[in-house]
Amino acid sequence: MIDRRAFLEKSALLSALGFLPRALSAEEYERDVMGSPVGTMPNFRGRPCVVSSANGINGVKVAYDRIRGGIDPLDAIIAGVNLVELDPDDQSVGLGGLPNEEGVVQLDASCMHGPSRRAGAVGCLEDIATPSLVAKAVMDYTTHVLLVGPGARKFAVALGFRTQNLLTEKSRQDWLRWKSRLSKNDNWLDHDDDVKINWTHGTINMNAVNAAGDVSSVTTTSGLAWKLDGRLGDSPIHGAGQYTDNDVGAAGSTGLGEINIKACGGFLTVEFMRNGATPEQAALKTLERMVHVTEPRLLDQRGRPRYDIQVYAVAKDGRYGAATMYEGASFAVCDERGPRLEPCAYLFKTADRPR
Ligand code: ASP
Repeated sequence: MIDRRAFLEKSALLSALGFLPRALSAEEYERDVMGSPVGTMPNFRGRPCVVSSANGINGVKVAYDRIRGGIDPLDAIIAGVNLVELDPDDQSVGLGGLPNEEGVVQLDASCMHGPSRRAGAVGCLEDIATPSLVAKAVMDYTTHVLLVGPGARKFAVALGFRTQNLLTEKSRQDWLRWKSRLSKNDNWLDHDDDVKINWTHGTINMNAVNAAGDVSSVTTTSGLAWKLDGRLGDSPIHGAGQYTDNDVGAAGSTGLGEINIKACGGFLTVEFMRNGATPEQAALKTLERMVHVTEPRLLDQRGRPRYDIQVYAVAKDGRYGAATMYEGASFAVCDERGPRLEPCAYLFKTADRPR
């Protein structure tokens, strides 16, 4: 059997000389040259694995069980993240997410389906608790990949998604506290100074592969708390908040989205894996790139980032890994050993974190 590179070089030459009508697509190559469609190579030895941010610890089990039961990996991980989207106590995603500076919850989500090479996303979506499902609906029912704002809401309502007020009492109280503490000179009396507002960011990213090596990814979030009206983070951006290539694997992120967008973190991690890095090495290399693209105001004098980001990755053969800027974060994984939290690899020690 000729190897893929030699084949592609040869076919490009023949094509240029007019002997082949056009280059083969990846699917055609796998079917015609390797003898089977992408992702279902007969000798492929994969193992199902689901990896996510730590808040997906229950969701990875739901997704893994579904994958083992024969459900498509993207449907399985969307069921996994739906748990978090619908949890009013998680203030970083879906229902109960912290609002923007105007007190409005605006949600972002995106997904990619490896075997069919399709993608969907929504940004600044209001009033619908499960943006991951709306992102998948964009993929399933339109020729587009990204709908935002009122248009995204209109689309979801047309498809029958239920609208509801996503601002829970707890998130409204946190928003009022944040607002009242903004300035000593405004007309709001600062109140509850001793009450800490716990979350200012958060997201869930989940990536999965099944035994046939079919890969998918999804990321869903309420974005940065108190963001400007209309701000899109990395989560709805394919190649940033998440990315899948069915030949290689999938990756996604949580943390400061503005940095991740500039580094194309999801895409870059998959590309590092394509070039031979393990999922953990790929995640670490992506973090290094993120530091490299960081503007000075977000770095201390020694070049250490004043923010945190985590990168999660799964390879087509079921290997997985995750990394964070600063020591201490964990991630969720589920495979044949069951659901568990594992420590992320890290770039910097906790002691090195800028004060
Ligand atoms: N990445 C999200 C965003 O920037 C926030 C987060 O994950 O904390 O919208």
